[in-house]
Amino acid sequence: MGQSKKKMGLSTQILLGLVIGALFGYFFPEIGAKMKPLGDAFVRMIKMIVVPLIFSTLVIGIAGTGDFKKLGRLGGKAIIWFEAATTVALAVGLIVVNFVQPGIGVDMPIPADASAQAAATAKKTIDMGEYLLHIIPTNIVDACARNDMLQIIFFTCFFGVGVAHIGKDGETIVNMCRSIAETMFKVTHYVMKLAPIGIFAMISYTVGSFGVAMLIPLGKLILSLVGAAIIFLAILLTCASLITGINFLHVVTGVKEALLLAFSTASSEAALPIAMQRLEQLGVPKNIVTFVMPTGYSFNLDGSTLYSSLTVIFIAQIYGIELSLGEQLLMMLTLMLSTKGIAGVPGAGFIVVAATATAFGLPADGVAIVLGVDRILDMIRTFCNVFGNCVATVVVAHWEKDLTKESFNEAYQKNFNS
Ligand code: ASP
Repeated sequence: MGQSKKKMGLSTQILLGLVIGALFGYFFPEIGAKMKPLGDAFVRMIKMIVVPLIFSTLVIGIAGTGDFKKLGRLGGKAIIWFEAATTVALAVGLIVVNFVQPGIGVDMPIPADASAQAAATAKKTIDMGEYLLHIIPTNIVDACARNDMLQIIFFTCFFGVGVAHIGKDGETIVNMCRSIAETMFKVTHYVMKLAPIGIFAMISYTVGSFGVAMLIPLGKLILSLVGAAIIFLAILLTCASLITGINFLHVVTGVKEALLLAFSTASSEAALPIAMQRLEQLGVPKNIVTFVMPTGYSFNLDGSTLYSSLTVIFIAQIYGIELSLGEQLLMMLTLMLSTKGIAGVPGAGFIVVAATATAFGLPADGVAIVLGVDRILDMIRTFCNVFGNCVATVVVAHWEKDLTKESFNEAYQKNFNS
């Protein structure tokens, strides 16, 4: 009872931080714009938790199974869900942008420097072959130093299976990882106490530095993304509920702090530790959470995928460039691959948009126009990214028969509703 009161307290505090931050940024934009370092400090504190947490929990999860076959099956099921969800996200983005046409009639000056910045970003094209090869680390310490999630997962899968197969000596490593994981969850708990301040700072920076005037000409783009995100999340929740029989509103209640954190920091990575902790409290087994969540951060960024298809067509609309259905489908295929390279950090999705728009011959100035409001778009897409990955984890756990409606409800009642 006391524990759940505390949790309620934290999400209310986070929400307050968000609202007060927005008001502060609006009324005192100059001070608000200077708040970024405070928000960054909070995000960095969360990021410092990610590598030891992923490594230790993944070793425990995989060593507990110790079996490449089970791991392969889990990976296969996760990829099926990831592909289905991101394809629906792409399609919803395309349908909404063609229907609403938010780019028609947009006529606004391009922010100074933005043109050059957009052109430079567009050059950072993503080479798929290189990307796949890059998943294999040459040095795990280097991968950890760069917070490279996929490389860490790749190494840890082998490491975990190895640990399971060396017998008694392996137990020492598992026990050590258990202590590290518990410690890192404790540290997450400490750092999360600072979340309301960090979020206040982040939001007042966003509102203070971008201002409301900037939002008006691109209001239709923002609203289209919000609308598309709502449609997509409704489809996702309906499918997930039908497949699992689980009430996904309870999942949302369980992970609400992670969602608020994602929205206000525009970084999925910042929301990862608390999302993992909450999913475990919802009854999802550790081995599934620790495998599906971080892999989803590379392969299942639904919000970023939705944003990419919507925004590239938006840029074409500004210039009255008609893209045929064939061209749009080709773009969808391109985005299907290139969005898999997006990292869970602020601004990552913009690189894909810039690269794709230029690859399809759209003017770099259009990309520059979007840059002006990209932070706001980033908050919306990051929210969807974390949401999508939490849903994916629950569905895959259900497919693995490791989570039933009953076990979920029991965990929910115990940890969130008592
Ligand atoms: N900011 C997003 C995230 O952290 C990635 C993106 O820029 O699309 O999930």
